[in-house]
Amino acid sequence: MRVGRDLREAWDLSLFRLNYQPQVNLHTRTVTGAEALFRCQHGPLSGTSPARLIHAAERSGLIDQLGIWVLTEACRQHRAWRDAGYAPLCIAVNVSAPQLASGSLNQKAVEVLRRFDILPEWIEIEVTETEPILKDPRCVDGLDDLRMQGFRLAIDDFGAGYASLSYLPRLHAHKLKIDRAFVRDLPRSANSRAIVEAVLAMGKDLGVEILAEGVENEEQAAYLAGQGCQSAQGYLFGAPADADGFEDAYLASRHLEEIERLMVTNG
Ligand code: C2E
Ligand code: MG
Ligand code: MG
Repeated sequence: MRVGRDLREAWDLSLFRLNYQPQVNLHTRTVTGAEALFRCQHGPLSGTSPARLIHAAERSGLIDQLGIWVLTEACRQHRAWRDAGYAPLCIAVNVSAPQLASGSLNQKAVEVLRRFDILPEWIEIEVTETEPILKDPRCVDGLDDLRMQGFRLAIDDFGAGYASLSYLPRLHAHKLKIDRAFVRDLPRSANSRAIVEAVLAMGKDLGVEILAEGVENEEQAAYLAGQGCQSAQGYLFGAPADADGFEDAYLASRHLEEIERLMVTNG
């Protein structure tokens, strides 16, 4: 209750922020997207993990406002980076079950995209496979609706939740994010290797992109690339950073490489 109260105070004081973590193509090591991660700059909440803040927001009923703020802020940032001349990047936004069940995000999504002139395919909706998401028809319908609106869909923390493979074709996700619990012990653990290889084979058969979460060292990256995993995210490639930090570290360099490439092409 205290966290919920502090969170509401932070909302009133406009102390919500987003950090961005790069997602890379494992073969070219280029940045292909960013995951937007919620942060709260309110002193009393400085020691509270984002996951706990989100949980408190869900319980206190603030999640609808928070979720719409997250989508709006991600779209605003997308627009700002494009206005600054950077090529469009796909930004992933986390969404939780109560937001889908209430329909709040679905109602606002089109308006937010229109306001910043953003194509829906530049935003990826990430959902974790929790029981309500799989069993509550309002959540499944909400995801269907967002996908029909043109948003990309990613299943987060894949394998760590209520893994029920039967729902996978039903959700028509574009991407599966292998939970970092399976990446942590690669390549040593035979169990982790078996699970990761099975997910990669399934992704190939279903035509779904696979991203490995929590990649922290070169051994993990090399093993995953060798197994045909397309994408990765983790401290090896970059920790979450504020928008300016992300721009300096990833967008500005990408932009320069692109200019150099065009100069070579044009002689
Ligand atoms: P997630 O969506 O799975 O996000 C990835 C988490 O892993 C982030 O934690 C990130 O900082 C952390 N991480 C990234 N790379 C590494 C790595 O190499 N090693 C390790 N050990 N960790 C890594 P964070 O930012 O604390 O977020 C925790 C969770 O909170 C998120 O997990 C997501 O479920 C939730 N969350 C964050 N922002 C939002 C939001 O805007 N809305 C909703 N509904 N949930 C959010
Ligand atoms: Mg996520
Ligand atoms: Mg995750």
